[in-house]
Amino acid sequence: VPLVGNLIGEDHVNYVLMYNMLTGIRIGVSRCQAKIKRPLTDDDFTARHKFSFDIVGNELTPSAKYDFKFKDYAPWVFRSLREEYFHLDPADYLLSLTSKYILSELGSPGKSGSFFYFSRDYRFIIKTIRHSEHKFLLRVLKQYYNHVKENPHTLLSRFYGLHRVKLPRGRKIHFVIMNNLFPPHKDIHETYDLKGSTVGREYPEELKKHKNNPVLKDMNWINKGLKLEFGPEKRALLTEQLRRDKEMLKAIDVMDYSLLVGIHNMRRGNRDNVRKNTLKVFDPDIPHTHRRRPTLSGGSVNHQHKAKGGTFSPEAIAVRRAMRESDPKRLGKGTIRLPEEDTGERQHFIFYQDEGGLRATDETNENMGTIYYLGVIDILTPYGVVKKLEHFWKGLSADRHKISPVPPPEYAERFFTFMKAIIRGGDGGELFKP
Ligand code: ATP
Ligand code: CA
Ligand code: CA
Repeated sequence: VPLVGNLIGEDHVNYVLMYNMLTGIRIGVSRCQAKIKRPLTDDDFTARHKFSFDIVGNELTPSAKYDFKFKDYAPWVFRSLREEYFHLDPADYLLSLTSKYILSELGSPGKSGSFFYFSRDYRFIIKTIRHSEHKFLLRVLKQYYNHVKENPHTLLSRFYGLHRVKLPRGRKIHFVIMNNLFPPHKDIHETYDLKGSTVGREYPEELKKHKNNPVLKDMNWINKGLKLEFGPEKRALLTEQLRRDKEMLKAIDVMDYSLLVGIHNMRRGNRDNVRKNTLKVFDPDIPHTHRRRPTLSGGSVNHQHKAKGGTFSPEAIAVRRAMRESDPKRLGKGTIRLPEEDTGERQHFIFYQDEGGLRATDETNENMGTIYYLGVIDILTPYGVVKKLEHFWKGLSADRHKISPVPPPEYAERFFTFMKAIIRGGDGGELFKP
């Protein structure tokens, strides 16, 4: 994954989509956040709020550059997840995503055809998802919610919002907003996407030369004989959390998820990519009438210093300061500097507390020179017809238990066993060597 994707300017094919997504989020999310918090009800899990945007505007929605419809799914549930369990500051969340209309597009890194977009401060990812994934997330939302509630340190993807944009000719685009596991302020020197499956799970060595930091897979990890270096304490915590998370994934009957591992080598630091830590800012040049900013009261004013209680959280201020302190002249006009250190919500989470990640430790729990960024991603694939067929076909030419598509209970146990095996001193037994 390149640190920064392609910025979407007005001439980009997906500019309208980006504009609509961000406008919908800005208006929809601030509308919900303006209300006084109340306990969740069962109905909140099936609720959806609709917004209709056009160039004229009305009482409910300000004028927009394009005609489109926006749906916010289970807004109160996601609000509760964000604020109570994921420790996001409400104003900060909206600012990160929508204070300037800037996203960078990663294109479609997986096979699924999903598109990935980064918020301009690199903290959030917007992933377009299939309709089936969307329906699935709604179906299991309560279980997901309860899991997060009972497991504040879960490694599962943190979903911050589920939305839909409908374009005039009827095209519907579903998307989720989630955490970027990788921090804005640290280079990731190696990336692995691990499933515990070994068939077809190798990024070809010969292609590695051509691509900067490609996403490597299970067999690359095994062939290198790598381990996650954790001493007894972190090892126990991580193993226990992974155990609980895989039980949850088994319970909702999904498969095909993976453990994403980003490795930052502290000795190498950020030297390799100094320039990449700078995002070029595309000034969206929104006409004056569109320059409204969300506030918590739902109105729209020039927001600079207004938020709940009149101020932003210390983290929000720190992030904003870090972004302001960039020297535009030195970096060239239209660039900003990403924050140098982690100041946000991550400090609340055991596995993300060491500079946004989890630092390697030795057997005496002393720190080592690596920081890992870990999380379980792509968790919305039920074992449906497509995957069952894939299981059948792939199983004809390879070991039926080592191919990626297997039934969820088998997938979960294989996943967990693999993860225990790659943790130094873990009890997952020996890794399969071909
Ligand atoms: P497929 O179904 O073919 O596996 P997908 O489109 O569902 O692909 P994902 O598996 O979710 O995509 O992600 C593809 C890649 O994008 C990952 O291997 C990882 O490199 C990157 N990625 C996904 N989610 C995150 C995240 N939360 N933080 C950082 N990087 C991510
Ligand atoms: Ca995947
Ligand atoms: Ca997928």
